[in-house]
Amino acid sequence: MGKVIAIANQKGGVGKTTTCINLAASMAATKRKVLVIDLDPQGNATMASGIDKYQVASTAYDLLVDELPVEQIVERETSGGYHLIAANGDVTAAEIRLMEVFAREVRLRTALAPVREHYDYIFIDCPPSLNLLTVNAMSAADSVLVPMQCEYFALEGLTALVDTISKLAAVVNPSLKIEGILRTMFDHRNRLSNEVSDQLKGHFGDKVYRTVIPRNVRLAEAPSFGSPAMYYDKSSQGAKAYLALAGEMLRRSEHQATATDNAEHTV
Ligand code: ADP
Ligand code: MG
Repeated sequence: MGKVIAIANQKGGVGKTTTCINLAASMAATKRKVLVIDLDPQGNATMASGIDKYQVASTAYDLLVDELPVEQIVERETSGGYHLIAANGDVTAAEIRLMEVFAREVRLRTALAPVREHYDYIFIDCPPSLNLLTVNAMSAADSVLVPMQCEYFALEGLTALVDTISKLAAVVNPSLKIEGILRTMFDHRNRLSNEVSDQLKGHFGDKVYRTVIPRNVRLAEAPSFGSPAMYYDKSSQGAKAYLALAGEMLRRSEHQATATDNAEHTV
């Protein structure tokens, strides 16, 4: 059964979309079956996957509002080797239309149920706000991956986000977990970044990924070529860092699976 991971942070520009498409491409490169759901009306994940958001036949709007099946709207030919549910400006309308419908918080969860087992990983790229689209992502997800920049006040924002996630989860998805916290656009030479990073580890311990994503110009350039970094410049530090993150994530989940197995044996 596929694991559904929402990539969320209410702040914009922290690396959500970059993480979503580069992690998805790295997972797909390890022969995992991956689906990316672009839930941000800006459609950045869509464009960065080589799909023209102005030309797509259908988007997350059709999934959420018109309840079209995933199989009908999924784009199979992305530059990252994963499947994609696209987004564009129409998805803004979805947020408004959702207000009127029944079970509006769990539309995405219901829509994904029939295809969860077709994928190893489903990554949801959330918009930079805690609106109804993000609530749908949180209720559909098994866990939340939070990308963050190690800068002043970052920890405060993060604590607020984690608090919101747990309140939200209590209502719509009690089993929602924090998948991990990812340090993005990291600069080892910056004293403040290192301080914040240490505080972060002190606060969130093992939840903080060992893999750090460095600030790397290739990661910023690749989307304008409609491509994840590994297919734009595979030797770049950015591409390597996201491959390492995929490896860490796979190792973590194997470790958890073994731990669960052992726990089951002892019962
Ligand atoms: P979000 O989805 O949270 O708004 P993005 O992933 O779009 O954030 O990143 C914001 C901007 O920073 C984009 O222009 C992106 O290309 C750039 N960026 C993201 N991660 C990195 C990185 N590690 N190094 C350099 N630029 C980055
Ligand atoms: Mg984004």
